[in-house]
Amino acid sequence: MTDMNEQLDSYDHYHMNVFGRPLMVLDHGQGSYVWDTAGKKYLDFLAGIAVNSVGYAHPKWTAAVADQAGKIAHTSNYFATVPQIELAEKLLTLAQAPEGSRVYFANSGTEGNEAALKLMKLHAKRKGVSKNARIIALTHAFHGRTLGALSATWKPAIREPFEPLIPNIEFVEAGDVDALTQIFNQGPVAGIIMELIQGEAGVLEVGASFVQKARQLCDDNDALLIIDEVQTGMGRTGHWFAFQNEQLSAGVMPDAITFAKGVAGGFPMGGLITFGQRVSELFTPGSHGSTFAGNPLAARAGLATIGIIEEENLLENATARGIQLREALMNCKNDLFVSVHGSGLLNAIELAHPCAHAAVEWLLNQGLIANAVNPQALRLAPPLNVSSAQIEEGVQILSHIPYDLPND
Ligand SMILES: *Cc1c(COP(=O)(O)O)cnc(C)c1O
Repeated sequence: MTDMNEQLDSYDHYHMNVFGRPLMVLDHGQGSYVWDTAGKKYLDFLAGIAVNSVGYAHPKWTAAVADQAGKIAHTSNYFATVPQIELAEKLLTLAQAPEGSRVYFANSGTEGNEAALKLMKLHAKRKGVSKNARIIALTHAFHGRTLGALSATWKPAIREPFEPLIPNIEFVEAGDVDALTQIFNQGPVAGIIMELIQGEAGVLEVGASFVQKARQLCDDNDALLIIDEVQTGMGRTGHWFAFQNEQLSAGVMPDAITFAKGVAGGFPMGGLITFGQRVSELFTPGSHGSTFAGNPLAARAGLATIGIIEEENLLENATARGIQLREALMNCKNDLFVSVHGSGLLNAIELAHPCAHAAVEWLLNQGLIANAVNPQALRLAPPLNVSSAQIEEGVQILSHIPYDLPND
């Protein structure tokens, strides 16, 4: 099976059809470049959807994972391993979490959010209002595909086929302070879950003043403010976590955050961080768990990823390359580009008409990977160690996307 179309036919034949036909079959990568099985090379401005933080096959990441695989790859939670202990401590340090804060490891973003939803339910129960306490999520939010996280995910097309879901979740438009206040006035609220930049909706900022208001309402009503950092975390916006970026959060401290995507540089991992003792005490032995939680291979991959981000100053690089990317795209005079926005290396180009899928195909032909985050926007999220020359190379290709591509 050497022909790529033959491989894709086989893929279609054997896989559950939930993703549609993949664009190509990838074989190997190096840094910001990846090759398909037909030998074509691509500059990757998607990085596995903001997952491959340090690019493909970083020698230190590869060595760490290989070393760990040769020692111990899984234990179950009857036992602990040193990588998981070290990673938990490291994450709390990076999040500047106060004494008493805790980490729960899961295996994906949606699982981190499942833990967050259970946390809010435990909080409501402790308050004595569990029967009718509501959970607030935002319109256009994406929190995952499992039934709990899906209940807090906005897009009707992916949520409605699975209803009824968790009851008592209310959606509020980001920025609508009055609507948010009104929900609190109507009765008990367990908490709010929100992204600071809605990645899947098109890289849209929720707005610092709205976040500030949410914090105040949660404080006044003893509700939890949980920030979903699955896409924005681990350096993606030039800060370890987006809530540490004053422009996005107005300095607001959440009660908990969830993380996943970039945390282990391509190894599946996710989780929940609770801030301070009071929130951290909600989960007790037996109240949550997962066979793979804190898996040593994943934890070692996470430590290696964080180590590389620190050694190579990749927070600074994400900030600088992001500015370079946005400025170059705004100056490239492509009439198709209405606006360019984002933070660090999480960015989107707003298009003049809904041709994002055709644009993605055109870009692939030219050797650049991006994604159509909605019909009228391209998402660009290169590895955090993308170089200045590679940004130029990508912009060169992007600047030539033709205007008159077919609409979706
Ligand atoms: C991707 C994403 C998720 C879901 O993560 P999975 O690992 O796909 O389950 C949740 N929240 C946000 C903000 C995401 O971007």
